[in-house]
Amino acid sequence: MNSLAGRFGGMLCRAQRASLGCRAKSALVSAVPSDPAAYVAGKLAHFDSMQFTPIRESTVSREMTSRYMSEMMEYAETDVVIVGAGSAGLSCAYELTKHPHIKVAILEQNVAPGGGCWLGGQLMSSMVVRKPAHEFLDELEVPYDDKGDYVVVKHAALFTASVLRKTLIAPNVKLFNAVAVEDLLVKQEGDKVGVRGVVTNWSLVTQNHDTQSCMDPQVMEAKVVVTATGHDGPMGASSAKRLESLGALPAGLPGMGALDMNTAEDAVVQMTSEVVPGLIFAGMEVSEARGCNRMGPTFGAMLLSGQKAANLAVQILNRQG
Ligand SMILES: Cc1cc2nc3c(=O)[nH]c(=O)nc-3n(C[C@H](O)[C@H](O)[C@H](O)COP(=O)(O)OP(=O)(O)OC[C@H]3O[C@@H](n4cnc5c(N)ncnc54)[C@H](O)[C@@H]3O)c2cc1C
Repeated sequence: MNSLAGRFGGMLCRAQRASLGCRAKSALVSAVPSDPAAYVAGKLAHFDSMQFTPIRESTVSREMTSRYMSEMMEYAETDVVIVGAGSAGLSCAYELTKHPHIKVAILEQNVAPGGGCWLGGQLMSSMVVRKPAHEFLDELEVPYDDKGDYVVVKHAALFTASVLRKTLIAPNVKLFNAVAVEDLLVKQEGDKVGVRGVVTNWSLVTQNHDTQSCMDPQVMEAKVVVTATGHDGPMGASSAKRLESLGALPAGLPGMGALDMNTAEDAVVQMTSEVVPGLIFAGMEVSEARGCNRMGPTFGAMLLSGQKAANLAVQILNRQG
């Protein structure tokens, strides 16, 4: 395991002892009660005697509605939109938390964010990350087994939960889940097209366009769009496919190439770029748009591609002034 446990263990252990009368092995695991039987008895007594503070049902409704609607008002115009909350999109969003003045919206079509990064290859649990992407895991305080050239996180969900927590806690980032990006906001700028935002709808509406009469979407304007919608599929690679249909990318997307871990991971990071003014490709959508190899179940490129996309976005924002 990496050394973070040791580095932070003592500090938190003292805090935990002070508040809980506990003995913790490290900051990365739960506090261990010094007298487990007494701890359990105390907890059960608490649950048996506790009562929630009263609330009106309408208060709950108003809290949710007013917050969501005011966030939709606030994010009608934003600095960066990230399409897709998979490993690349979330790594991008996390990196942007280092710039608290930049307003970031993540749009994820699924109810659950995380994309394909809740499991490793073939639905197995662990996640292999090639160095130097382990430095990102250190930053997120995700523990791993160091195997020399690569590291192994015991469960991919540990990475996804950690990057989600550190991202969502930041005040400059808002995740809109169950929201699909149906199209791009594209402007003709001289002889080029520029992407200036996204066209959105609630995913349940998007899924029912064939069964109901017309249900219009709405628009979120953005100075920069990072698209990280993953592999081609019913929704995946959606920005690449749309740009191809508009003629902004060459006809006949190359699609991802055959599996070669060694070339693919480097290529995805290198080819993470602003392909169309205002739009950056990240994660596996890069290989769909640019034709580099797939890498199979090694996730380092997703993490670093997302981080690179964030830094490109900051550069573009600075350029725009
Ligand atoms: C066929 C297949 C092959 C795979 N091969 C590889 C491989 O070669 N290498 C590899 O690393 N991994 C592979 N994986 C696993 C996995 O997809 C990736 O590792 C990793 O999750 C990709 O990260 P990502 O962030 O680019 O995309 P994803 O994790 O797929 O995340 C994309 C997210 O975008 C969301 N999204 C898509 N379109 C929209 C939209 N229009 N609006 C809003 N949200 C949207 C999706 O719901 C999803 O949450 C493969 C998976 C499949 C199914």
